[in-house]
Amino acid sequence: MAKCFLCGNPGNEGRPMLKIDDIHICYQCVEGLDYRMLTSKMGDVAAERLMALVSGTHPEVVPQPVQDQGEVLEVQTRKLDELPTPQELHRKLDEYVIGQELAKRTLCVAVYNHYLRLRQKEDEDGTEIEKSNILLAGSTGSGKTLLAKTLARILDVPFCIADATTLTEAGYVGEDVENIILRLLQAADMNVAKAERGIVYVDEIDKIGRKTQNVSITRDVSGEGVQQALLKIIEGTECNIPPKGGRKHPNEQYIRVNTENILFICGGAFVGLQDIIRQRLGSSAMGFASIEEGRNTKEYTEEEVLAKAMPEDFFQFGMIPEMMGRLPIFAPLTTLTEEQLVQLLTKPKNALVKQYTKLLAMNGVKLIVEPDALHAMAHQAVERGTGARALRGIFENLMLDVMYTVPGDRTIESVTITKDQVEGRGEPQIKRQRPRSRKSA
Ligand code: ADP
Repeated sequence: MAKCFLCGNPGNEGRPMLKIDDIHICYQCVEGLDYRMLTSKMGDVAAERLMALVSGTHPEVVPQPVQDQGEVLEVQTRKLDELPTPQELHRKLDEYVIGQELAKRTLCVAVYNHYLRLRQKEDEDGTEIEKSNILLAGSTGSGKTLLAKTLARILDVPFCIADATTLTEAGYVGEDVENIILRLLQAADMNVAKAERGIVYVDEIDKIGRKTQNVSITRDVSGEGVQQALLKIIEGTECNIPPKGGRKHPNEQYIRVNTENILFICGGAFVGLQDIIRQRLGSSAMGFASIEEGRNTKEYTEEEVLAKAMPEDFFQFGMIPEMMGRLPIFAPLTTLTEEQLVQLLTKPKNALVKQYTKLLAMNGVKLIVEPDALHAMAHQAVERGTGARALRGIFENLMLDVMYTVPGDRTIESVTITKDQVEGRGEPQIKRQRPRSRKSA
């Protein structure tokens, strides 16, 4: 007879036990389920999952009525190693990334398919699904890096960022392309198998291949060698990685890493690409699209225009065809609006206002950021044109004095950030506790 995992007793008089995976829990224990006890028995992660499964809030719970099997009620769960679906990925991304709906959808489907492909491969059913690396285009500070990083975190795979403009051909001053894989390996605690399923974000991919941008004589940025090396690792190759990085030495033991299953997400601002697309859309070939929708190309939003990008637009922009061939999935990002920047300060799980509120709360001080102040900050960030990056700078600057003063002054009760302060016309409003009278002191 099944025994309760927690109290060790067999099922309670006539009341069924709950069966989750291979564990039975009696109803008495279910009712008094104690997170701390679970944690001590099975560790944080498993305990949290079990709590969520029992309460029915865990995504693994298949939404079917619980089956009554005599004395045991079985909670139907998916296999533990099941991939989060594109919709689950999307919901998780929403907790951290504001807006960018089209990019989120495209990325979630592409990333899901990528990891599904890795499994299918193991099944060897005959059909080979090709790797689909991803290209993100959108202005600076629109969330390209954040999207890639957050996806890697949700999927719990190693992640690293590389800057295409600092890459050089082996032997030149700069970063050897294989160093990217070393960094991924380091992010995977030097576990090769883990690194081989990781995600690499390559920033500034729009700068590669543009001969006119190659201003340095020591860096072979747009040189054939770099492009070919980068293309090779993106496509899939065996790399020999010197474990300590840097130059390769003849007698050194290399670590072999296969990049075939590493997902590459490449991003760039692609300044000017919109004009190229608009021009094409407005010209005779695609003109019917605007007639069909009864709209002039000028009426298309930035996202709509970018979503209509074709490989030839990228070629005209200066991307080399081989690179585009290896980045078959394309997702456009939009410049964040003032309203979205306000949300960015307050909504995500790690929103700046939340972080500073917590920091100040540790000193017993309440932080109030007036809605007008949030809008004023967002407005300034839009004017500076570097989106979320400027916003971060503006807010952190405002908070610098506060964070400098507060910890040393125990009389401060609350700090209010106002629109006037944001616009440089005042100081933050500081409310102090009434000084204690001598008698009571
Ligand atoms: P990009 O790679 O497009 O230049 P990043 O992803 O590096 O931009 O974003 C810069 C900063 O702004 C990061 O700190 C990130 O947290 C924040 N950020 C940018 N876009 C968003 C967004 N859509 N939602 C939430 N935060 C964002």
